[in-house]
Amino acid sequence: MTRTITLSDIRAARERIAGKVERTPTVLSHSLSDRVGHPVHLKLEHHQTTGAFKLRGASNAIAALSPEERSRGVVAASTGNHGRALAHAARLDGIRAVICMSRLVPDNKLDAIRRLGAEIRIVGNSQDDAQKEVEKLVGEQGLVMLPPFDHPDIIAGQGTLGLEIIEQVPDAVSVLVPLSGGGLASGVAAAVKGVSPNTKVIGVTMARGAAMKASLDAGRPVEVEELPTLADSLGGGIGLDNRLTFGMCRDLLDDVILLSEDEIATGIRHAYEQEREIVEGAGAVGIAALLAGKVKTAGPAVLILSGRNIDMALHRQIVCGEAPSTVERAA
Ligand SMILES: *Cc1c(COP(=O)(O)O)cnc(C)c1O
Repeated sequence: MTRTITLSDIRAARERIAGKVERTPTVLSHSLSDRVGHPVHLKLEHHQTTGAFKLRGASNAIAALSPEERSRGVVAASTGNHGRALAHAARLDGIRAVICMSRLVPDNKLDAIRRLGAEIRIVGNSQDDAQKEVEKLVGEQGLVMLPPFDHPDIIAGQGTLGLEIIEQVPDAVSVLVPLSGGGLASGVAAAVKGVSPNTKVIGVTMARGAAMKASLDAGRPVEVEELPTLADSLGGGIGLDNRLTFGMCRDLLDDVILLSEDEIATGIRHAYEQEREIVEGAGAVGIAALLAGKVKTAGPAVLILSGRNIDMALHRQIVCGEAPSTVERAA
C-alpha cells in the first residue's frame, strides 16, 4: 500500500513549525471577484519568509530530525526556493546545510542561497550532476538528504498552508494550487479535504514540460522534456521512483489545468497591476487560470500565490508586455 500523509501528520507539523514560519494572510480580490461573479480569495504566501511556501516543508523536516541527524547536517540539490528555505531553516536551528548546484546556475541565485548561510557545492553541468554530488555527500559524510517534494515531512509541512486556507475561507468551493513535483498539492489537498471533504482542489501548471500531468495521464511516473518557462519553479520531473506525491495527487486532486506562457505572463501582470503584488510565474498560475476562463467551479475560490522570487529585470519586461521573447532567449 502506498503511504499517504494525513490530517494528523499535518497538524503535528503545524505544532512543530509554530514560530518559525509566518501565518500568511488571505485577502479578497475585488477585481477577480467582479470578473468571475463569485468571491476569489488570494492566499498571500509569497510574503512567507524566504519568499515562498517551501519554508514550511523545510522547517518541518529539519524540526523532525533526531539529535544525531542534526549533528550531521542536511544536503539537497536545489537552485531555487527549496534551497533558500533549507538554508534559512538550518541556520535558524544552528545545523549545517550543504546545497549542491551545477556550474550553469546564475550568480544571483547562488548568492541568495549563500547569503542565507548554506555551504554551496558547485559540480558538473546539470541538475543530475548536482544530485550525484548530494548522494556522494550522503555516503561520505552522512549528511541527511532532504528532497524538495517527495518526503513525508516536507509534504506535511506544505500541508500547513492548507490548514490555514480552510480556516481563513471555510466556505471555499475550490482551491487552486501551483503544481510541480506535487509536495504542495499533496499536502494542501490532504489538509483541505481532511477538514472540508467537498472542497475541490485543482492543480495548475504550465503546458511546457508538465511532468505530474503527463504522469497522471499515463497512470505512472513518466519523464517529460524540460523546457524553459516563465513558471521556472514548476520545472523538473517527479522522479521515476516517486514514492508519495504521485499517488497523493492521483487520489486527491480533482483536476489539473495547463497554461500557456502568454497566460502565465497575463497572470503576473494582473497580480502587479490590479492586486499590487509581485509574484513569480509559479505564483501567478492560479490567477492566470481564472483569467483564462479555465476554472469551471463556481462559488468561493482560493488561489495560492506561492512565491515571489522572480528576477526583477524579467518582471519588468513582463509588465511591459515583452514576455515571450524573454522566454525564447532563456532557451
Ligand atoms: C516549488 C514551488 C512550487 C511547486 O511545488 P511542488 O511541491 O513541487 O509541486 C510552486 N510554486 C513555487 C513558488 C515553488 O517554489
